[in-house]
Amino acid sequence: MIHHPTHAGLVALVTGAGRGIGLGIARMLAARGARVVAIDLDPDLAARAGAEVGGPGIACDVSDPASVDAACAAAERALGPVDVLVNNAGISPKHGGRRADIDAMDAAEWRRVLAVNLDGAFNFARRLVPGMKGTGRGAIVNQSSVAAKAWFGDFPLTGVHYATTKAGLVGFTRHLAGELGPHGITVNAIAPGRIDTPLMRGAAPEVNETIRRDTPLGRLGAPEDVAAMACFLSGPDARFVTGQVVDVAGGWMMG
Ligand code: NAP
Repeated sequence: MIHHPTHAGLVALVTGAGRGIGLGIARMLAARGARVVAIDLDPDLAARAGAEVGGPGIACDVSDPASVDAACAAAERALGPVDVLVNNAGISPKHGGRRADIDAMDAAEWRRVLAVNLDGAFNFARRLVPGMKGTGRGAIVNQSSVAAKAWFGDFPLTGVHYATTKAGLVGFTRHLAGELGPHGITVNAIAPGRIDTPLMRGAAPEVNETIRRDTPLGRLGAPEDVAAMACFLSGPDARFVTGQVVDVAGGWMMG
């Protein structure tokens, strides 16, 4: 695939970049000319992703404001102000490969999912928006999910905690888009369908096969499918696009 240098001169920070969709996004942003900061909870995965995309790989727990502040300071020391923030890190705990039902979910599990999936986006945006305001440009892309808007049927895909955070990111995206538009900063979200990653492989093969059959385009997604949308939304072609949530789902759960 030929990549145009749409992101030349831009610094992009991707959370959860150690594997899966985040790694795909980091790779494609680098291929399009961005200087990329790879953030991951696992120090080895962060270092490996950083080495691959030619930028710093920084270990950070997105749910911890102090860890996020330290990671952003290190990123800025290495590359300068961040232009593109991709809030991708997320968790979706299963119970023995099954959906986490509310009566089997303790408060600590609920809190952890909110802390990673929602607080993580807040922590990074809060820390990096002042730099974007300083340069008068910026793009934030949040990783929501089709789980934000739809009941999947009785699939063991996720729990109410996960769906709540992904719906929360829709409100976060729209409100922040309104607030930051006057500063030249766009804020959008992606709602992936079923994407083939380690997170997805937590479910039984027959589940993924059923989804494939229900998907008009006839296959599960690849990280590159989501990465292409992240590049579009954070690049110059989307300069008049903000406050949007775009499905990348092959038509599955199109509504
Ligand atoms: P994945 O393969 O599990 O990758 C998630 C990455 O996030 C991992 O590298 C993980 O690090 C990192 N991470 C988790 N908790 C973190 C924390 N507290 N701080 C920093 N990094 C953390 O998942 P994925 O499928 O690529 O999903 C990426 C995003 O897309 C998630 O937000 C997910 O909800 C969303 N999404 C995925 C699908 C899908 O079908 N795959 C569909 C819709 C939405 P470790 O490896 O160290 O744990």
